[in-house]
Amino acid sequence: MLVVMKFGGTAVESGERIRHISNLVLNYQQKMGFDVILVTSAVRGMTDDILAVAESVRRGDTTSVNWFIDRLKRVHLSLIDSSIFDEAKNKEARTSVIQLVELIENVVHGMLPMREVTPKMLDYLLSFGERLSTFIVSVAIRDIGGNSEFLVGNDAGIVTDSNFGEALPLMDTTKLKVFHKLKPMLAKKIIPVITGFIGADQFGNITTIGRGGSDYSATIIAAGTRADEVWLWSDVDGLMTADPKIVSDARVIREASFAEALEMALFGAKYMHPRALEPAIESNIPMRIRNFMKIDDEGTLVVNNPSKDSHKIVKAISSIRHTALIDVSGVGMVGAPGTAGRIFDALAKNKVNIMMISQSPSESSISMVVKKEVLQKATRTLELSLLGRVIKKIDIKEDVAVIAVVGSGMRGIKGVAARVFGAVGNKNINVIMITQGSSELNLAFVVNDIDCAEVVRTIHGEFKLNKS
Ligand code: ASP
Ligand code: MG
Repeated sequence: MLVVMKFGGTAVESGERIRHISNLVLNYQQKMGFDVILVTSAVRGMTDDILAVAESVRRGDTTSVNWFIDRLKRVHLSLIDSSIFDEAKNKEARTSVIQLVELIENVVHGMLPMREVTPKMLDYLLSFGERLSTFIVSVAIRDIGGNSEFLVGNDAGIVTDSNFGEALPLMDTTKLKVFHKLKPMLAKKIIPVITGFIGADQFGNITTIGRGGSDYSATIIAAGTRADEVWLWSDVDGLMTADPKIVSDARVIREASFAEALEMALFGAKYMHPRALEPAIESNIPMRIRNFMKIDDEGTLVVNNPSKDSHKIVKAISSIRHTALIDVSGVGMVGAPGTAGRIFDALAKNKVNIMMISQSPSESSISMVVKKEVLQKATRTLELSLLGRVIKKIDIKEDVAVIAVVGSGMRGIKGVAARVFGAVGNKNINVIMITQGSSELNLAFVVNDIDCAEVVRTIHGEFKLNKS
């Protein structure tokens, strides 16, 4: 049984946790006889800090840059001291980490006079978060008697395009390279310990594959090595019926389909790279989302075809708070082919991502939901490029929440919408916009943000999701 195990940033944020996960992995390999491949994230917060340091470079703020380098060194050296106890190994790890920190220091100081960080340089900088944490984990495993080998994502075989920051893995090449690199190591009972988030383009430049990308690295590697399962260990218990911060009796979902998981993960407590599921779906590799602090809990199993008894009408209620709604209207839009295309094209060219869309059948208005951070950019774009021509009016609502009711069991079941909106209506809460994909997997609607928590609790109660 080959399992690719990915550990998130919270699993490596203290030496104690690094020891804990090292023991956990070794236990699976030595006692349970698994073949294990590890994929690790940067220490929690580190990627954000590196992004901030790039901003400091752009401002020419040498003090902040130096402060960061100092912190980077302190944090990782203290992780080593609290997770690697053998004197020689501790020294070896310290030496390597100091070298890596010096490398990043030189690179950043080289950028400071120019005050420039290109996307390519930024990816190179970002890679240090994962390189440092993952390297430490690899030595910590050896420290407790395991046989591990540290690999940067590209050395493990991940090849991407050159779209720095959001690079796309070239899957065929990658799968081949990953297979030939890792299989012989597994045959020798070595545990490959691989940085998440990182690949390299065909010219060897370091790339990153998007925020939260370590999950994606894990599924790519699982596909490449034809793993039996991929486990995403983090500090959440699994996919939940609702956000436990909102619904106190929310439960862990035992089993979900990939399609359901995708809907939930984008909204839920376990943020996941949207592409992370793709390789697992394509290669039909079951995925488990588990809590590394509760190793006896099985978490959520995500598979292509969940067992019959996991089919519920509604499985989860997710919400995205603090979003914004834009409504564009105008009689000129009626019966004019290409209107929607022009609206979305203008927004896309300005990198505004749209989360939800609905058009009235009269075609005289289109509503869209976007993240609040891009609201200004979105309205400016629409005003500059289309207002007064195709569209006559732009209305915005600044603080709304998107509620998604998810479950593949809704398909073909009558009355689900009536139950959802009936329950919400009984609470006297206004629904602003509604969409349902024709797959009937997800019924989504928009309410004022202040109503969000009550709506989620109401629907959770209506479908009795607190009971298994
Ligand atoms: N460290 C990266 C991030 O914070 C990748 C990951 O954690 O999955 O986005
Ligand atoms: Mg993460």
